[in-house]
Amino acid sequence: MRLFAALLLCLALPAHAEGFITRLLNKPVPGGVAVLDLGDSASAPQARYQGKPVLVVREDNRRWIAIVGIPLAVKAGPQQIETAGRALSFNVGTKHYREQRITLKNKEQVNPSPANLKRIERELAEQTRAYQQFSPRQPSNLLFDKPVNGPLSSPFGLRRFFNGEERNPHSGLDFAVGAGTPIKAPAAGKVILIGDYFFNGRTVFVDHGQGLISMFCHLSKIDVQLGQELPRGGVVGRVGATGRATGPHMHWNVSLNDARVDPAIFIGAFKP
Ligand SMILES: [Zn+2]
Repeated sequence: MRLFAALLLCLALPAHAEGFITRLLNKPVPGGVAVLDLGDSASAPQARYQGKPVLVVREDNRRWIAIVGIPLAVKAGPQQIETAGRALSFNVGTKHYREQRITLKNKEQVNPSPANLKRIERELAEQTRAYQQFSPRQPSNLLFDKPVNGPLSSPFGLRRFFNGEERNPHSGLDFAVGAGTPIKAPAAGKVILIGDYFFNGRTVFVDHGQGLISMFCHLSKIDVQLGQELPRGGVVGRVGATGRATGPHMHWNVSLNDARVDPAIFIGAFKP
């Protein structure tokens, strides 16, 4: 009988046990992350999703895993990555994102003038180019430190209505912290873009490696320079309310393979 039970247990186990990173990060929903097993080859396999290179790391010094960012606009259902000349399928589940209604006194921030629309378009292109950078470095840590200590406020993915008009969904995670609070790099990285943007205000992009990129915005002060290498915990700048913000708070985007994903996943605070 005991032998039978042991046999059943063996059959119930997957071919290889899931590692720590997979358990933590595998949240395959729109705006989430899919972790896919790439096997145990001697050298790192390459992988692409929607034509873009994907983060590949070794888990527990054994198997290679692809950590794929799923854009918020992807519909639930089958998706695939390409690796070593073959397709690897995974399934995207559903997730419900709530609505948020915000009133802005500054109407220009809801319906900008033609001149500001031109500025917004230029700034968007600049930031998209930063998100598309792919450096070979290995992220120092995939379980991120919180950039500030404080309560979470607006979650990622909220459908947003400004003065009743729907605009882009919330691309990051907000923390309710006061102006001047230091913002710390959640992992080591290089400063790849600094700007003062119409919507995002004073902004810093930090490349953690292989397309894993953090963006911090609405800063009151920036404490880094373009090209600077930051250790894990290095101060990026100070919390503020620059750009389109109703008050001081810290807005943090996390991007993988040019897809903005829920930062809560990386700090163990994801809510399905
Ligand atoms: Zn925000």
